[in-house]
Amino acid sequence: MERVVKCAHCGSDHHCFEEIQDEFSSFMCFQCGFMSDTRFNEEYDSDASKNMAIVMNQMKHFDSKRKVWWYPSVVNMGKLGMIYPEPKSINEETGRVEKWVWKYSKVVPVEEGDTEAAGYTEKLDVENGQEYEGKDFLSAIKEMGITKDLTGEKN
Ligand SMILES: [Zn+2]
Repeated sequence: MERVVKCAHCGSDHHCFEEIQDEFSSFMCFQCGFMSDTRFNEEYDSDASKNMAIVMNQMKHFDSKRKVWWYPSVVNMGKLGMIYPEPKSINEETGRVEKWVWKYSKVVPVEEGDTEAAGYTEKLDVENGQEYEGKDFLSAIKEMGITKDLTGEKN
């Protein structure tokens, strides 16, 4: 079962969904691009954070109501490309990411003479990735072609 909840990260009332399973629930906010799960507790995080990209640890957010961590999404859709967060400013004292953008990189054919991608026919076009505001994850996934029926969406 799926229902709309208030996002613990950005506070959105309309774009955050809880997918309720028998044993756990998962959360996904299409406004800020953060996700969580009722299993992402302190114990989970202390293990998982060791293998996480630095940026994930700099951006993760603690949900004090549910006692779980929220992490920025990384969406890898193969041929459709990839959406990932890119930090724009980091607080020097706390080491936390204060501003970020969502970057959407498409998959492009490898051109002749591209030595870095030699041996491949396609690559992720990171240099020409499109940027979207940190609170506009929705535009990035719309551009990617993933549509979601957002109940009560107010543009
Ligand atoms: Zn949110």
